[in-house]
This record gives sequence, structure tokens and C-alpha cells, in this order.
Amino acid sequence: MSDAATFRPTPSNQFSFSRLKSFHQCPFRYRLRYLKGLKEAFRSIESYLGNTVHDVLEWMYGERNEGRSPALEEVLERFDGAWTQDWPEDVAIIRDGDGPDTYFRRGREMLERFHGEAWAKDRSETLALEQRFTKSLSERISFTGFADRVGRTTQGTLFVIDYKTSKKIGDPSDFSEGLQAPLYAACALEIHGDEVALAGYHYLRHGKSNWTEVKREQGRNILERFKNMAEAALDATEFPARPGILCAWCGFNHICTFAEVPEAFSGGRRLTEERMGAFSTGG
Ligand code: SF4
Repeated sequence: MSDAATFRPTPSNQFSFSRLKSFHQCPFRYRLRYLKGLKEAFRSIESYLGNTVHDVLEWMYGERNEGRSPALEEVLERFDGAWTQDWPEDVAIIRDGDGPDTYFRRGREMLERFHGEAWAKDRSETLALEQRFTKSLSERISFTGFADRVGRTTQGTLFVIDYKTSKKIGDPSDFSEGLQAPLYAACALEIHGDEVALAGYHYLRHGKSNWTEVKREQGRNILERFKNMAEAALDATEFPARPGILCAWCGFNHICTFAEVPEAFSGGRRLTEERMGAFSTGG
């Protein structure tokens, strides 16, 4: 592994939602990423699209806080500029048959729908964008995370919302959906001193939002649950590989001997091959 492929490891006691999710999905990937401090060889175009759309949404709400209301044309111009200006060389199109245009169009469609529907109707107040939460959960574990948007409804209820660009609408019983926004809501409750907050997801491809109410006591339980799971990850001594469809999106799939990457989803692997030349193997 070259120096360029290493980067500063996350402090060992600092757990984000992504870190815990990584441990849950594939402990071996977690070990490479968070314990060995290796950088994944590529990032997926889905993730690049998600970041670009999030940046535009953050800008839109920032504009609104300044008393401006960007027209759809300005929103799309902003997206177009961000998409094309700095195309990073480590972005991989995983699925055969897709091209950058597929995702570019998808991004524009999501923003167009959002601007015409949720944004047009939204009268809520924005308290913070990309708010960073940090909280010590025990002597060994501290939580850190970024909430897309924290605000108050027109009735004054505190809320935290995460914008999703994924195809699938989540279910509260999923690991991610059941934990991420409620976790941020639990932190927001402690900061703002409210008794109840709404934890939500907005699915940009569907124009649909899902909300869950989080009361103080529930918030404390969610933070306790997160702490217990983080401690289990911290104390783990074995990190088995869990190969599956996500291997295609894993930036270690070129060095992982357990990887299962279907030919039709091998864009990430191919890009790594092109950028780094011959593979080294490891396990
Ligand atoms: S390639 Fe698959 S099995 Fe290997 S680390 Fe990545 S997700 Fe885990």
C-alpha cells in the first residue's frame, strides 16, 4: 500500500454513525478503514452524487436564512457547476451500463422535485446546517456526527433531518434508519433542552419524508444503545469478512481476498486497477 493510500486514522475512542455501520456491515472492512487507517481506493459515484446534492441543499437553506429564495434555474446551475468543475479521479461508476450522465440527470431530477415540492412548502426555521455533534458517552467512547439540518417546525417543535439520495426508502427497523437520525435528535435534545424532537429522513428520489418522535428518555436510551454497540466494536478481537453485494462498493475490494464482486458491478475494481496498476493481495 502506498503512502498516498494511507491517511490519519480516526481516534480510537471516537465513534461516528458511519464507523459503527461499517463494523456492523463488514468487520474486516472496519478493521482496514478504522483500525489500520487505510484509505479506500475509490469512492462510488452514488456517494459523490450524494455529497454534491447535499452541498446544494445546504446552500439553498443558507440562502433562505439570508432572506433569499433561489429559483430552480439557480439551484440547477449550482449543481451543474459543482458536478462538472472538479470531477475527482477516484470516483468510480460501479454498475456496467451506467455513465456519469445517468447520475447527473438523477441529481438534477432530485433537486427539481425537491425545489417544486418539499422546499416550496417548507416554512420551518433552520437552526443549523451540517451541525456537528460530539458527546462523551463513557470514559472510553465518544460520539461524533454531522446532522444535515436542525430546525424548528412552524409549531416550534425541534427537528433533525437527514437527506437521502438512495433508491430505497428506509425502514425504522433497518440498522441505519433506526439509529442515525434518532441519534442526532437525542444530541439536539440535550443541546436545546427540549423534551421532544422529530427525527426525520427525506428521500429525495421519492419526494417523501419519514418522521419519528424522540422523547428525552428515548434519546438517552438511543445514546446508551450506541455506546454499548461502540464498546462491542472497541473490544472486538476478531474481524470477520462479510462478503456480499456491498463488496462492489468497497474500496478495499482489490486487496481483500474475500471480496465477491460480480462482473456487472466491477467498475470500482477496474478503476483501482487502472490507477494503481497490478493488484497486491492480502487478507
Ligand atoms: S471486499 Fe467485501 S468482504 Fe472484503 S472488506 Fe470489503 S466489504 Fe468486506
